[in-house]
Amino acid sequence: MNKEFNLAIVGLGGMGNWHRELITGGANWNNDKIDPIEHLTVCGSYDIREERQQFAREHGLTPYNSLEELLADPKVDIVLCATPNDVHKEIVIRALEAGKNVVCEKPVTLSSNDLQDMIDAAEKAKKVFVVHQNRRWDEDFLTVKKIYDEHMLGDIFRIESRVHGSRGIPGDWRQEPEHGGGMVLDWGVHILDQALMMIPEKVKKVYASFTHVTNELVDDGFTVELTFESGLVYLLEVGTSNFINLPRWYVLGQNGTAVVKDWDLSGEIVRITDWSKNDAVPIRTAAGLTKTMAPRTEDTIHTDPLPIVHADIRDFYKNVMATIEGKEEIIVKLPQVMRVMKLMEAIFESAKTHQVVDFE
Ligand code: NAD
Repeated sequence: MNKEFNLAIVGLGGMGNWHRELITGGANWNNDKIDPIEHLTVCGSYDIREERQQFAREHGLTPYNSLEELLADPKVDIVLCATPNDVHKEIVIRALEAGKNVVCEKPVTLSSNDLQDMIDAAEKAKKVFVVHQNRRWDEDFLTVKKIYDEHMLGDIFRIESRVHGSRGIPGDWRQEPEHGGGMVLDWGVHILDQALMMIPEKVKKVYASFTHVTNELVDDGFTVELTFESGLVYLLEVGTSNFINLPRWYVLGQNGTAVVKDWDLSGEIVRITDWSKNDAVPIRTAAGLTKTMAPRTEDTIHTDPLPIVHADIRDFYKNVMATIEGKEEIIVKLPQVMRVMKLMEAIFESAKTHQVVDFE
């Protein structure tokens, strides 16, 4: 029989409430109702804002009066930390020291030294400490990973992963460096984690540049180029002043190209069927002639739908519970989180010095 787990949320803001809805059976991204996660109950929460304490009351949660009170409750098995980034470290260490298992929102913290302190605390407490790298369950990512793993485009030499918006940085702590604001720590940590999960190679070189269109203090966008050991170049870009989005994924292999346009998984794969007809009739452009850029004719290529991979984000919590029970190995491993953290540090260094940084 499975054990029943109680989870308490520290920081019941936007994301804390997302977890509450996920666990208790809310709406998923396309507004379909999903079933609650079995064997897991959200028992209470603590937030420094009275308005969120009231929200907790209205939604049947125990609103603990302090972090101490929450940590002292023996019925709490798992603490979820969903506060702004700068306070993760203190809350996670205190929860581990209180003998709780901990789920921490991303970015786990602001530096690799701080993360090491948190890992040390988890080892000492012998408790599960896991970071919510939920975008490993993104279907667009898993679909591109399948294309890569199954060599569907031949040797892949370039992957472009972009996330574009046009609203600047939301008007709260995300704009402030002291709270761990900026897009590298916000979206970067997700798409960098995806890159390192996809390509099983060392990252040799890192080059980064930041944008400051709407915010001087933190990066409101970035472009990062990672060069892996095989020479594969992986471009990552986050923009918050992009009124026209580029595709979410653009993948180039020797035998074809794949595009995933958006989170709706629209897109396609175009692959070569006949290399012999490589020579093209030149085309005329406004002020010249080109043979190189003449579009391919249909008799040499084939278009396929994307090989969509489905996933269920509730598996994150199922894995956390099974790991606590000693039945499974944790999926989001701390050495992987540390590698991403160090990569973000290399990105900050590259953006500051305008130099390519050697990584691994
Ligand atoms: P938010 O501002 O909506 O919520 C944060 C909440 O924490 C607020 O209600 C605030 O009052 C509370 N808080 C602040 N300091 C606290 C403290 N010391 N103790 C208790 N409560 C405290 O922010 P958010 O968008 O929900 O982001 C929270 C965390 O979740 C961040 O780390 C963010 O990066 C992460 N996040 C993750 C995802 C994801 O997809 N994994 C998405 C959004 C946000």
